[in-house]
Amino acid sequence: MKRRFSLLCICLLSIQMLFATQPNDGDKKRDSFRGKKPKYVFYFIGDGFGLSQSNATEAYMAAVNDSEGIQKLAMNTFPIQGLYTTYAQNQFITGSAAAGTALSTGNKTSIGTIGMDASKQKPFKTIAEKARDKGYRVGIVSSVSLNHATPASFYAHQPSRGRYYDISVDMGKSQFNFFGGGGIMHPEGDGKSNKKNKAANIGMAGNKKIKGKKENSLKLAEKQGYTIVNTNEAFHAIKSGDDKIIAINETLAGGQSLPNGIDQKEGDLSLGDYTQKAIEVLENKKGFFLMVEGGKIDWACHANDAVTAINEVIQFDQAIQKAIAFYHEHPKETLIVVCGDHETGGLTLGFSGSHYKSNFKLLENQKNSNGVFNAELKKLKKQDASFDAVLQAVRKNYGFDGEEKSTKLSEYELAQLKQAYNESFDKGEQIANKDQYYQLYGAIDPITITASHILAQKAGIGWTTFSHTATPIPVRAMGPGSTLFNGYFDNTDLPKNIEMLMKL
Ligand SMILES: [Zn+2]
Repeated sequence: MKRRFSLLCICLLSIQMLFATQPNDGDKKRDSFRGKKPKYVFYFIGDGFGLSQSNATEAYMAAVNDSEGIQKLAMNTFPIQGLYTTYAQNQFITGSAAAGTALSTGNKTSIGTIGMDASKQKPFKTIAEKARDKGYRVGIVSSVSLNHATPASFYAHQPSRGRYYDISVDMGKSQFNFFGGGGIMHPEGDGKSNKKNKAANIGMAGNKKIKGKKENSLKLAEKQGYTIVNTNEAFHAIKSGDDKIIAINETLAGGQSLPNGIDQKEGDLSLGDYTQKAIEVLENKKGFFLMVEGGKIDWACHANDAVTAINEVIQFDQAIQKAIAFYHEHPKETLIVVCGDHETGGLTLGFSGSHYKSNFKLLENQKNSNGVFNAELKKLKKQDASFDAVLQAVRKNYGFDGEEKSTKLSEYELAQLKQAYNESFDKGEQIANKDQYYQLYGAIDPITITASHILAQKAGIGWTTFSHTATPIPVRAMGPGSTLFNGYFDNTDLPKNIEMLMKL
């Protein structure tokens, strides 16, 4: 009886502890905060950036340097590390618009909605707009298009993320001091709703033939006082004191984005370059708010492309290092917050076929991103290339059958590639079942995705989805006010913390 009673006590205590850790204590923490407050705030958001993306990168960096375990990313040396939930108001697994709105306004909203409530009626004022109104300088940097969901969530108020044109018009209206990175999707409108265009949902849609063109939103922005910069030369000429700049990368990849880190050429500007330039433009006595998005971690993870995602995380971390350098000049006044909007791909560091083995170094053998390899496949398709010719291209891009035994393709893997070739090149027996087809290949070329999966699996990496997941996301923070980011809370707490700290 006594034992039963103590068991009951333990159970009740556990239940109590469970509730105590529910993410509902953010307000209390903010109310009791008495520490120093920052003047300069950096808000780094990795799109599709979960704990596995972070740890896979650290394992990869250690492996390529022939050392054990992990090599820490700069962001993971921050003294404060917390965790938060990401669910949207109408869906447990969130999307970039709802997550971006949560991170920019402290409010949950519905999937696809930018800076408005779930019913798409009421706009929410964002922390960037509040910072602007309080006299802080404001900057928005992204490696994807500047009117993509995450950056848009800081300045736009639109019922749908697919309204690229309307979002880009909101950009000029914002009067923020600096925008930099990718280009503009549909600056003259798209003549139709993007709702049914799946590719547009991840920002990959190209500009289609436009019926009923609208006034170019960049031209509109110029009328509102902005200078548009779109060459490397003009970018390097931007200096401190310059204002109202929209800096678009000279070289743009699909979806108006910066080229992937893995595909970048000598002289290409990186997310770090844009972050550094933003700091130069924004620095002033009153203070600033700078949001930097590593947007293509998400894209690489939608494509289940491990090493491309890892290189994007490295690019993101290099941008964070620019903020860390600034922090060291102004340690008492600088807060750096690094987070993600959600995880993408269900990436995990283990796979049934590789048992307990990991071999992250193998990933280094991949030459180009899945996106670049897709373009190569298109050319091969035009020539109606044989399986052997395609296999040769696969071996070259993904580093199969090198000198090491671990890179050799097994009979099973070759059969998977043959099946993928049949699907992609419309040869032999096809998979009739749509569900089966989607689970194998998603919306990606069957050959690319199969090769990418085989390489990941050989490295000991598994992917579970072509979409997002709902796993909690880590936040790292450093500087005055950073202790507020310690604990387990909700994504809406992050901007609420910043708002309180900047007295917005
Ligand atoms: Zn996202």
